[in-house]
Amino acid sequence: MAVRRCAAYARPSFRSRSPVNTVRLSDPQRALRLSSTTARLRKSPIRELFALLGRSDVISLAGGFPPMEAIDAMGLRNALVRAARDSLEDSLRYGATQGYAPLRALIADRNRVQGIALDAADIQIVSGSQQGIDLAARTLIDSGDIVLAQAPTYLGALQVFHAQGARIETIPADAGGRGIDMDALERQVVALRPKLIYLVPSFANPTGNVLALRERKQLLSLARRSAVPIVEDDPYGALYFHEPPPPSLLALANAHEREWVIHLSSLSKMLAPGLRLAWMTGPPDWMSPMSLVKQIGDTHTSNLSQLVAWHYLCSGALEPALERARLFYRAQAQTMIRAIQREMPALAQTIVAPKGGMFVWGTLPGVDTTALLPEALREGVAYVPGAAFMPGESVSDGLRLSFATASPEHIQEGIRRLARCVSRSR
Ligand code: PMP
Repeated sequence: MAVRRCAAYARPSFRSRSPVNTVRLSDPQRALRLSSTTARLRKSPIRELFALLGRSDVISLAGGFPPMEAIDAMGLRNALVRAARDSLEDSLRYGATQGYAPLRALIADRNRVQGIALDAADIQIVSGSQQGIDLAARTLIDSGDIVLAQAPTYLGALQVFHAQGARIETIPADAGGRGIDMDALERQVVALRPKLIYLVPSFANPTGNVLALRERKQLLSLARRSAVPIVEDDPYGALYFHEPPPPSLLALANAHEREWVIHLSSLSKMLAPGLRLAWMTGPPDWMSPMSLVKQIGDTHTSNLSQLVAWHYLCSGALEPALERARLFYRAQAQTMIRAIQREMPALAQTIVAPKGGMFVWGTLPGVDTTALLPEALREGVAYVPGAAFMPGESVSDGLRLSFATASPEHIQEGIRRLARCVSRSR
């Protein structure tokens, strides 16, 4: 019964609405009562797809959800036991908005080992990097301000910026379409005076792109010269398949450039998303109002999660777990790339094999991938249409395929189903 309700709910929502649909109420009287902020909120098509994940007939290549095979469940279980045994009081009482001090100290120590000068006082613990993006936006953006972001980019960030009333402008891409046209960006920054630049420099969601070292350095110099903050969102940097990506903007910045970098790092993809644990750092002048904004929103991040993470990190289990996760995702990516090459040679021409992260981005020239999605769902496969990652409500022939969650057999079968549905649509 529950499954039937799920399917009935999910299908029409894709048939009849754009992927970035806003809040809709059935009763016009109550709709009028919504605040203008709420009325312009956009739904996430991925959250909408959650409804389908329980359906055994749909293979999801949509969400970037770490599966249990990539999560160190035993290590986390041990950390949970230790948190309950040794830190029960700390876990159960209220804590500081900035976060559990020993965890912040540990994160700062780990960064210092990598040459990044951070103290515990520089770190703000947040409930996932999604909250970090939201805090940065609430702290720095007024309605009507301009935010620069790549297109396509992480849809959760787009949701935040839209909610804040920002005007999102696209960072100009270079000729290859995977990097940034730095000269054009310089001109754009002068012309538009953006309030902030949002970037996922390593294994971006949805493209898998990695910004080159030279571009990272140029961005830092631009941010300092033009006094525009860069929000560096880095949940995937540790999930490389062979080589680590270039150092983060935070690691590369000199003392002056650091004043313009707000860096976000999350345990969601490295460890487990259910912990809802991430950290951010930036210039103290902005971090302290951000902490106040967080206090207003949720007082502090769950102490139980923080204590579990602290015990886990203290145990030294993260590095070996990351190594296993890298091998896991590398094999998953290979399975998907091979399946695409075998089943969908035209799509294969448009993709660049990712070197880390969780996603393959491709295009189906001439196909509106939003319009194709209901057909794909009927065929039994889900992906995220490219329009979801675009700042405007544009039509897109792009699509994001995640190799994170499905088994190798399901990845192959999912691509076969997609191939069938695309060939029928032509
Ligand atoms: N940024 C990017 C680029 C992401 O892909 C995601 C998760 N999909 C997030 C932020 C949010 O991650 P978290 O679970 O830490 O809130």
